[in-house]
Amino acid sequence: MAQVQRMSRLMVKTLRDDPADAETLNHKLLVRAGYVRRNAAGIWTWLPLGKKVLDNISRVVREEMDAIGAQEVLLPALLPKEPYEASARWEEYGDLLFRLKDRKGAEYLLGPTHEEIFTLIVKDQVASYKDLPVMLYQIQTKYRDEARPRAGVLRGREFQMKDSYSFDITDEGLAESYRLHREAYQKIFARLGLDYRIVSAVSGAMGGSASEEFLAPAPAGEDTFVDCPACDYAANTEAVTFKLTPVSAEHGAVEELATPDTPTIETLAEHLGVPASATLKNLLVKVDGEIVAVGVPGDREVDLGKLGEHLAPAVVELVTAEDFEGRADLVRGYVGPQGLEKVRYIADPRVAPGTAWITGANKVDTHAKNVVAGRDFEVDDYLDVVVVEEGDPCPKCGAGLKLDRAIEIGHIFQLGRKYADTFGLDVLGQQGKPVRVTMGSYGIGVSRAVAALAEQSADEQGLCWPKEIAPADVHVVAAGKALQTELALDVSEKLAAAGVRVLVDDRAGVSPGVKFTDAELIGVPKILVAGRRSAEGVLELKDRRTGEREELTVEEAIARLAA
Ligand code: ATP
Ligand code: MG
Repeated sequence: MAQVQRMSRLMVKTLRDDPADAETLNHKLLVRAGYVRRNAAGIWTWLPLGKKVLDNISRVVREEMDAIGAQEVLLPALLPKEPYEASARWEEYGDLLFRLKDRKGAEYLLGPTHEEIFTLIVKDQVASYKDLPVMLYQIQTKYRDEARPRAGVLRGREFQMKDSYSFDITDEGLAESYRLHREAYQKIFARLGLDYRIVSAVSGAMGGSASEEFLAPAPAGEDTFVDCPACDYAANTEAVTFKLTPVSAEHGAVEELATPDTPTIETLAEHLGVPASATLKNLLVKVDGEIVAVGVPGDREVDLGKLGEHLAPAVVELVTAEDFEGRADLVRGYVGPQGLEKVRYIADPRVAPGTAWITGANKVDTHAKNVVAGRDFEVDDYLDVVVVEEGDPCPKCGAGLKLDRAIEIGHIFQLGRKYADTFGLDVLGQQGKPVRVTMGSYGIGVSRAVAALAEQSADEQGLCWPKEIAPADVHVVAAGKALQTELALDVSEKLAAAGVRVLVDDRAGVSPGVKFTDAELIGVPKILVAGRRSAEGVLELKDRRTGEREELTVEEAIARLAA
């Protein structure tokens, strides 16, 4: 027997107008439909309808985590400082961390994520390899003092996360725990009715599947990713690679060009009447203090984040005026790779062997043309360092890539032994010797998923939930007269008895028009109206998404909805 929720007794106040501060669809609609209420920036109350949706998502997550053998626990959100000092995250988190003191002056934090505490719990509870692998999870409130809490519950400062952690003794074991999580996530997001892509979270250079993000495409998203319209390729913009294809072509000898006052690509291209793409731009950076040049086509931007990832753990910085002191070989604004003897030269694969460029001649006010890669200069390392642009070729099939916005709804990560090393997490191995444990960590934004679902499924009329997540299976509307209310309540009881979750609008003194508008706004997938033909016992069933309508008797309606 499912529940009948009567609107006359439900705490829900729908609004006709968007809240003044709302910019995104989910924020507008979740507030207007009475699901959430803002208390302070990034801090939200879940009202009865919203709590139902949140619980439905948690239930799906819980079922799929249990199905892979993960065990549910609940850790505190208020945590002592020491473990986070040991891992250095007390400092590293910077302003993102909520720090506080107790009455005795001892320092605490509100947990942003729990790797440290889980590591300590397993250290306390698990002694032998026989007790591994272990996977633990919780659905819990997390705290992050986000710089820009925005888009309603999409980016909160207090939010709900499912976080899980796996503990294994071998790398193969970790890979298996990771695979189990990946599959569980695929099931979860499919059941939630979310459109999503799995993208590698790190660049190809850092290697494969050690970290992947689950992205839900939506214009309100804060992540940009590339999506191939022709094949199944999708990737974080940082992970896109470009194929190195040497060309064989005849080029004339290097020729110097007088180019006064052309220190930038724009001024140069204009002076010579060539497209910026014909020029080679050479950005100077410092890598662990040593000057390195990075060559990319003049119309492309260097992605310093990508460069940093390729060169990590080396530290990449921009050069300053002082770095040119005593370096006669580096002519600021007129650098060309053909004259760089003592400088390491990194280039984008577009600067392939055999391509010819207009670039600096290493003399003030002078450039050179027909400077050919592989003939006039050597590239020390080819690295993908340019900012990806719409239309760049797909690394898999060559079609022009699209750039899309998305919401990060999940993240899976092979952590390895970082935390186990910090806390000395060993278990007794098969040979009787201690073995260091290896870990994975896996997150799902449970409250963020509500926002992502709202973004993806809403239309002009309002929210429109997938069945499994909706606050009810059917929204019964009593058009107004006593007879109609009677029929609506009667069919509601029968539906509930058949296991259907019912929300019934039995409010007196509310016009049918307002009730219909509210039903569309609230977004339950089926709307059943006791209206014109109530005297004959005939109701109208409307599909919230397609708008399709059909007339049914009470028995037919029950058969249809209970199926
Ligand atoms: P983001 O890049 O969006 O800040 P993150 O990479 O810092 O997220 P993780 O530490 O990977 O997030 O957390 C796991 C999951 O928790 C994320 O995939 C996301 O769905 C969710 N999440 C993270 N921060 C927030 C937040 N401020 N509000 C709501 N959900 C969040
Ligand atoms: Mg993440």
